Amino acid sequence: MDLRDRPEDQAFREEVREWLADHVVGEFAALGGRGGSGDETFGFEVRREWERVLAADHWIGIGWPVEHGGRGASIAQQVIFNEEYVRAKAPGRASILGEGLVGPTIMQYGSKEQKERFLPPILAGEELWCQGYSEPNAGSDLANVATKAERDGDEWVITGQKVWTSLAHQSDWSFVVCRTEAGSARHKGLSYLLVPMDQPGVEIRPIVQVTRTAEFNEVFFDGARTAAANVVGEVGDGWRVALATLSFERGVGLLGHQLSFRRELDHLLATAAGNGRNAEPVVRQRLAQSFIELEILRLNTLRSLSGFDGPGAPPEASIAKLYWASWHQRFAELAIDVVGLDGVVAEGFPYELDEFQRIFLFSRSETIYGGSNEIQKNIIGERVLGLPPEPKGTAR
Ligand SMILES: Cc1cc2nc3c(=O)[nH]c(=O)nc-3n(C[C@H](O)[C@H](O)[C@H](O)COP(=O)(O)OP(=O)(O)OC[C@H]3O[C@@H](n4cnc5c(N)ncnc54)[C@H](O)[C@@H]3O)c2cc1C
Repeated sequence: MDLRDRPEDQAFREEVREWLADHVVGEFAALGGRGGSGDETFGFEVRREWERVLAADHWIGIGWPVEHGGRGASIAQQVIFNEEYVRAKAPGRASILGEGLVGPTIMQYGSKEQKERFLPPILAGEELWCQGYSEPNAGSDLANVATKAERDGDEWVITGQKVWTSLAHQSDWSFVVCRTEAGSARHKGLSYLLVPMDQPGVEIRPIVQVTRTAEFNEVFFDGARTAAANVVGEVGDGWRVALATLSFERGVGLLGHQLSFRRELDHLLATAAGNGRNAEPVVRQRLAQSFIELEILRLNTLRSLSGFDGPGAPPEASIAKLYWASWHQRFAELAIDVVGLDGVVAEGFPYELDEFQRIFLFSRSETIYGGSNEIQKNIIGERVLGLPPEPKGTAR
């Protein structure tokens, strides 16, 4: 694997770098690269405007095929874009669920009308999306979904509860897994509906997290409606469509997230140099170890992407999810140790957490969302190693 840019990629890198230098200015630069995962309430209105700036020059959906309005950028170019984006401290993206999850799903399974209706507003940065999968009794065990949708003339009527719905309060639409066949069980009888969020039958209740912000929500559907045509794939075949979306989640989209870790590590190294902790033997060992592990992550991610023909990720992508989520938690513990007592003190109320405190608290969730560590190990065991499936009845 040659990690150097090819000549055409060098030109692309220059183009991205120049564009970012020209546009990450003023209120966008003032965000300092914040607003990413777990920090999405920060500067939301400015970040929403930033999406339109990106869109105006076709920087949303760069990996989407040209026929769907993207640039058809290669994986190498998407890597370059993400690298430069993080380096330029551009604002945390507000539309990743549309661009990275439902957009590719509609491209794969949607009708012509759905592609025409839903893809352009994603590329324009105009419509934001959230993911309506998890329920109180359906998380890892997603097939236990109980939210139901019934036909009423030209519409579906949806009743039930979703939970942990990230960014529901900022979203225009949700992709919702519902039970459309009464009496069906498990993977059968589910459908994948596109549901407008701004309507009387949808109630969004924020869930305040330990970081004291509320990035995710409970969503109650009580007679919510969507057009009959807003089913992606066949009615009753929603399980297949829902799994396709999950495979996009584990694909190239995770890369930008990982690249920001290097910036956090650099900040920690500077902090340790500033307070003298970098002279302590055990701290030095842990910093070096953290750096080594992050390099392993970077090189392995690039290696897996170099053989990746996307858009959905292979089961091996679970290794990267397990690895980065666990690494980030260890890194956050190290960061708090390096900062010392100040790391566990926040001033006043309502208090503003500093970067390491925020990372420390939010990283607890990273081994849960997008498939918990245990679920990733199940996927690796069964689909990569060919181990026997979990005994029925012990899983929940
Ligand atoms: C920050 C954050 C954002 C999220 N955003 C969204 C969102 O936008 N939309 C959405 O739909 N959901 C979202 N989720 C929900 C997330 O997908 C679920 O939390 C996750 O799937 C786990 O489900 P659960 O919480 O019901 O836990 P459970 O599935 O009840 O799991 C509890 C524990 O049991 C373990 N476990 C469960 N089953 C097995 C098994 N078969 N083998 C071994 N161990 C097992 C799990 O690993 C975990 O440790 C988000 C979660 C978080 C933390």
